[in-house]
Amino acid sequence: MPKTKGKRGAFRCPRCGEITSGGLKSCPECGQRLTLECPECGQIWRHIHGYKFCPNCGKRIA
Ligand SMILES: [Zn+2]
Ligand SMILES: [Zn+2]
Repeated sequence: MPKTKGKRGAFRCPRCGEITSGGLKSCPECGQRLTLECPECGQIWRHIHGYKFCPNCGKRIA
């Protein structure tokens, strides 16, 4: 089985699975937002991290 986990640079849209490049804020295929903004401290995290809580302030963001 080919190893795909941990591949640098490749980031898949959480909704449609389209591979998007690094700096995009939303998916060019389906419009899904690719970033999570913490409502508490305003820090922006990439969905790729899968954070449920803001690592900066501890607020739940997912
Ligand atoms: Zn998408
Ligand atoms: Zn925060």
